[in-house]
Amino acid sequence: MSISAKDIEMIWHPYTQMKNVDLPIVIVKGEGVWLIDENDNKYLDAISSWWVNSHGHAHPHIAKKVSEQVKTLEHVIFAGFTHPKAVELAERLLRVLPMNQSSIFYSDNGSTAVEVALKMSIQYWENKKKPKNGIVAFRDSYHGDTFGAMSVSGRGAFVKPFESMLFDVQFIDAPIPGKEKDSLAQLEAILDNSNLNIGTFIYEPLIQGAAGMVMHQPDALDLLIAFCKKKNVLTIADEVMTGFGRTGKFFASDHLAANPDIVCMSKGLTGGTMALGATSCSREIFSAFLSDDKQKTLFHGHSFTGNPVACAAACASLDLFDLEETWLNIERISSCHRQFAEKLAKVEGVENIRQTGTILAFELSSDEETSYFNPKRDSIYKFFIERKIILRPLGNVIYILPPYCITNDELNLAYTAITGFLESQAT
Ligand SMILES: *Cc1c(COP(=O)(O)O)cnc(C)c1O
Repeated sequence: MSISAKDIEMIWHPYTQMKNVDLPIVIVKGEGVWLIDENDNKYLDAISSWWVNSHGHAHPHIAKKVSEQVKTLEHVIFAGFTHPKAVELAERLLRVLPMNQSSIFYSDNGSTAVEVALKMSIQYWENKKKPKNGIVAFRDSYHGDTFGAMSVSGRGAFVKPFESMLFDVQFIDAPIPGKEKDSLAQLEAILDNSNLNIGTFIYEPLIQGAAGMVMHQPDALDLLIAFCKKKNVLTIADEVMTGFGRTGKFFASDHLAANPDIVCMSKGLTGGTMALGATSCSREIFSAFLSDDKQKTLFHGHSFTGNPVACAAACASLDLFDLEETWLNIERISSCHRQFAEKLAKVEGVENIRQTGTILAFELSSDEETSYFNPKRDSIYKFFIERKIILRPLGNVIYILPPYCITNDELNLAYTAITGFLESQAT
């Protein structure tokens, strides 16, 4: 039996309806932006393997550092013990995080980074003897698939079976262009209502990824954060997708005037090499857990908290972010996207073209609403995969989010495929 046939006999894939599922493509090797299958077909990874890959696949520098680490120390319990790579990574993250961040809590992925952030914020108020467990989030947000993360995510189809078990959250519209005033007015009304007891605001800064790469401007988000500060509400920047250069700066929060109290990181943290999450917080938050009262401890941890191999991968990825070349690549991709966006603007049937840093997104006009379940999705995906380009549209939203090592020629392959697709639709 082939590997892919065996696979679907046994393996349940993420976000996949397994009934009549197409055989998965068996990837045996990665190199730069390319993924190579068992038959030697090369696929261009234009979405960085679900938004995680920063520097290209199987990057030799990261591979070397991971290999050295796994031969030296693969894992150690992280309570009562530490290791050099965890400390190096914390030091280097604090150097690039917003200035007010002072402590790093490690976990395993983006969802757990969000769970830790929510627990920090809720327990902060508890420890301060001012319990405020109300939370505000954006209506179409995505913060992960565990229960806390689902609760603060938009109440769409992904969470429907669990809706009765999710905790209450106050949702406001994201401050997308044209909605800035509504968004702020909704936040003001909620924070002014003392019955709601709001202590936390969690948001995806500048780009709501899973919602369909929906973008807003820094000044609009700044107004929301400023109002939270005024009302003594803690802010959590979920930088799981936007961190590590995606928006053109290290963090999306770097485009803002106001600093968040807590930052969630994962995806690009290891350059996309392996699973690792981190939640950072300000000194003010960390201090609220210091006490002779054991009950004020943050009772949270995972078996693989601070795994040395994952920390080594993250440090190696940061080595690459220390190179000027990486940042020149990010700028180059942004400027290529801008030029392609101008071309797209002239194509009929293309709507809402938007770009932030290395992410370019647009919508295909559709009689159905713009959503993850838009019927055009499957045919779009198929068109590109037949041309060996991995673009996974979010419904009728097509976006490119490439590894930073992509060359102009490789970018043009993706652009040309998109233009070809749009032409095929025009008839
Ligand atoms: C992907 C994502 C998460 C969840 O991360 P996982 O590692 O998939 O659990 C959380 N927040 C945002 C903004 C994301 O894009």
